[in-house]
Amino acid sequence: MTRVEPSRVRALLDAFREAFGAEADVATDPVAIEPYGRDESDLGTFPPDAVIRATSTAQVAKVLALGSMLGVPVTPVGARSGKSGGSLPVRGGVSLSLERMNRVLEVNPADLLIVVQPGVLTQHVDDVAARHGLFYPPDPNSAGYCTMGGNVAENAGGPRALKYGVTRDYVLGLEWVLPTGEVVRVGRRTSKGVAGYDLVGLFVGSEGTLGVATEITLKLIPRPRVVRTALIPFRNVSQAAEAITEVLTSGLWPRTLELLDDVALQAIAGRGLPVPGDAGAVIIAEVDGVQDDAVLADLASLVERCASRGSLEAQVAQDEVQRERLWSVRREVSPALRALGGRKISEDVVVPRSKVPEAIERFKAAGARAGLVVATYGHAGDGNLHTNVLYRDRADWPRVEAVLADLMAVTVELGGTITGEHGVGLAKQRFLGLEQAPALLDLQRRLRVFFDPAVTMNPGKVFPDPGKA
Ligand SMILES: Cc1cc2nc3c(=O)[nH]c(=O)nc-3n(C[C@H](O)[C@H](O)[C@H](O)COP(=O)(O)OP(=O)(O)OC[C@H]3O[C@@H](n4cnc5c(N)ncnc54)[C@H](O)[C@@H]3O)c2cc1C
Repeated sequence: MTRVEPSRVRALLDAFREAFGAEADVATDPVAIEPYGRDESDLGTFPPDAVIRATSTAQVAKVLALGSMLGVPVTPVGARSGKSGGSLPVRGGVSLSLERMNRVLEVNPADLLIVVQPGVLTQHVDDVAARHGLFYPPDPNSAGYCTMGGNVAENAGGPRALKYGVTRDYVLGLEWVLPTGEVVRVGRRTSKGVAGYDLVGLFVGSEGTLGVATEITLKLIPRPRVVRTALIPFRNVSQAAEAITEVLTSGLWPRTLELLDDVALQAIAGRGLPVPGDAGAVIIAEVDGVQDDAVLADLASLVERCASRGSLEAQVAQDEVQRERLWSVRREVSPALRALGGRKISEDVVVPRSKVPEAIERFKAAGARAGLVVATYGHAGDGNLHTNVLYRDRADWPRVEAVLADLMAVTVELGGTITGEHGVGLAKQRFLGLEQAPALLDLQRRLRVFFDPAVTMNPGKVFPDPGKA
């Protein structure tokens, strides 16, 4: 992809320094900016020409206005934990980091809301809410280090999405800087409201292509008083997937039903997950509520349902330490799989729940045909599967591509979607056309150009033909 001329970037940096003097936090040193060229997508390194670490909305607005005027690509960056390459500055230019805008601006228990800057870490939002007996449910497994700005841009989900939904369900309002530098406030502070178009809905999930979130108003809900967690092993992944359908059609509504297949279990072997030797898959099920008796009864009923589908003996976490241990091992699955394979591509397809068993079987078969290992884990309760293709080095890439093409085709054939939470970014552009008709793609391109006529806002992302928008 063509990189922007360095002279344009210099002009942007000069104007920015002139406007903000000593407060302008600008880096151009190759060593300092190199990390901003990478994320968790395993797509390679695309260094920016400069990194600006903004400290205010006014600075963000200035960078975007200058970028638009001078034709310099500007790519917003949170914590670079993204898995679709969204924060990679593929055409160079400026990486606009929001990491220094990391303050909680307001907690309002009476109105059940919290207002944060975009660089606040997701886990911190829930920690602050907890101090008031409140709950911010979206829990990407990266919550300890990803930012709310990145969550808004990707519409992040997580294990609890099964019961509580995703980021979009909690964003009430936004301060948003449009690609031209104009600052708008969209949404509201009330729990309901339908005045005007739903621009919050449009901006959440826009992957840094329609502007930058500089302030985020989030809905909080009462915190469940009791949470109970069980680890339920199965001989194979098909049985586990069928048990999930059994549970969800039984009237129970757990907050998580996480699935790990045999390869994922192999990757985390020895890390303390109490799994019997003959297990080929596990479900981590979690139920919450107000009364301990009722929650325990629901968990017992869930375990029984799984037993009716052939589960092995379940382990119920006896205290918070055991519960946290289960989740910390779950959070290790992604890096452990990378360590197992050398390299990996992590997908986040979603299929209708009833198709989960068939999808997993067909994904494994696609890997076997290409001679590569495919692991599947993730939020199977809502059909969201992190299917990982493991490989050794770049020489394997044609085979990886073949498997990915198969995975996407199967997903769409089963009525699913190519991405449930990581976004299209750079990683899935070439597959978007499988799922969306040309007219729909064209409508979205036109919308993008309406907001960003110069196409300088995170260019080269989302749409299949980066040359067009
Ligand atoms: C181990 C691991 C587990 C993960 N688990 C989950 C999971 O369970 N669920 C899930 O959804 N994701 C998960 N992710 C993916 C990732 O953490 C999320 O996509 C997260 O939302 C990215 O946040 P970030 O701050 O790192 O953003 P970045 O990666 O820095 O950026 C992501 C996108 O957001 C844009 N962006 C960043 N800040 C802003 C802003 N203020 N305004 C506008 N655009 C902005 C960027 O341009 C880019 O397009 C996981 C990642 C890892 C490494």
